[in-house]
Amino acid sequence: MSRPTPNPHAEAVINLVALEHNVRSIAQLVAPAQLMFAVKANAYAHGLLPVATAGLAAGASSLAVLEIPAGLALRTAGVTAPLLAWLHGTETDFRAGIEADIELGISAVWQLEAIAASEANRPAVVHLKVDSGLSRNGATIEDWPELVRTALAAERAGVLRIRAAWSHLADASVADDEAALAAFLNAVAVAEALGARFELLHLAASSAGIRMPEARFGLVRIGIAAYGISPFDDRTGAELGLVPVMSLRAPVIETSVGGSRLARVAAGFADGVPTIGLEQASILVNGVRCPIASVEVDSLLVDTDGARVEVGDVAIIFGAGDEGEPTAEEWAEWAETIGDEIVTSVAPRVPRVYLR
Ligand SMILES: *Cc1c(COP(=O)(O)O)cnc(C)c1O
Repeated sequence: MSRPTPNPHAEAVINLVALEHNVRSIAQLVAPAQLMFAVKANAYAHGLLPVATAGLAAGASSLAVLEIPAGLALRTAGVTAPLLAWLHGTETDFRAGIEADIELGISAVWQLEAIAASEANRPAVVHLKVDSGLSRNGATIEDWPELVRTALAAERAGVLRIRAAWSHLADASVADDEAALAAFLNAVAVAEALGARFELLHLAASSAGIRMPEARFGLVRIGIAAYGISPFDDRTGAELGLVPVMSLRAPVIETSVGGSRLARVAAGFADGVPTIGLEQASILVNGVRCPIASVEVDSLLVDTDGARVEVGDVAIIFGAGDEGEPTAEEWAEWAETIGDEIVTSVAPRVPRVYLR
C-alpha cells in the first residue's frame, strides 16, 4: 500500500498533435480568411512558446498576444510571425513593441500620443479598435471619429501605418453578434468617409468564426476552439471535430484514507482543481469513474467504492474524454462556468509535459 510514485504531484499533459489538428481544421473551415491564433494568458495556460510554435506550424498566420511583453518574449525566442498586442497601460513600452515589429491594437487617443512620443525607429503598424457593443476595450462609437482622425494625422506624420479596423463580439447570441456586425460595418464606413483605408478587417473569435461566415472578413482570431474546447454551450468540442489539448493528471498517493474507501490524489485547489460542482464531479482513477469526496489545497479525495486502486495509479482529472475521463467542458458544466476557466485555472506550479 505504500508503493512510491515517480512524481507525487499533478502534471498537465499538452497534446500538440491535438492542437495542430484543431488549428488545421479551423483554418480550413474559415479559409480564405487567415487564422490569428490567440495565445494570451500563457496560451490559455498551456504554455506560450511550444503552443505558439505548434499553432504556426499547423497553419496560423499570426498570433494574438494581449500585451507587448508577451510578444517580446516570443520575439526573443525566435518567433518571426506577425503578432498583435492590444492591452496597453501608461507604463507600456511602446517603443520596444514597435521596434520588435509587434502590431498594436489601438482603442484610445492617448495610445496614439504615446506611440508618437516613443520615438521608435520605425512607424508603428496599428489596428484601430471600435467597441461594437461588447464594451470591452475598444473606442466607443462616439469616440471613434476622433480616434480615426488622430490616427490619420499620425499616419501623415510618418509615425504609424493604419493596417486594420477591428472589434470583438460578445458571442452572447447570434442576434447580438449580428447587431454588433452591423455596428462594426457602420464604424468602418465612418472611418472610410474620414479618409481611412484598411487593408484588413477583423471581428470574429472562435464562436462567430465558426458559426457566422459573414463575420470572418480577412482574418479570424481563434482561441478556445484551438485548445479543443467548444465556444458554444449547446455543442461539444467533439461535435465540432475538436480534440481537447490539455489533460490534468495526478497520482494516487494514499489509499484507504483513515481506514475508509477514500483514496488521496495529488492534485488540489492550489493546482487549479475546481472546488464548486463537486456533488456531481467524478474523475477517472485506474480506468474507473470515482466521485470526488473533497478537494483540499494540495490533494483531493475520491470515493473508490470497491474499485481496485493502488498508490501510484494515475487519476485523470480532465482530458480528451477518450479513456472515459471527464473533459474540461464536463467540469465547466458541473462548476457552472466555461471550459476556458477550467483550463486557464491550472496553476503555474503544475509542470506542463508536451506530447507529440
Ligand atoms: C481572447 C480573444 C480572442 C479569442 O477568443 P476565443 O473565444 O477564445 O476564440 C479573440 N480576440 C480577442 C480580442 C480576444 O481577447
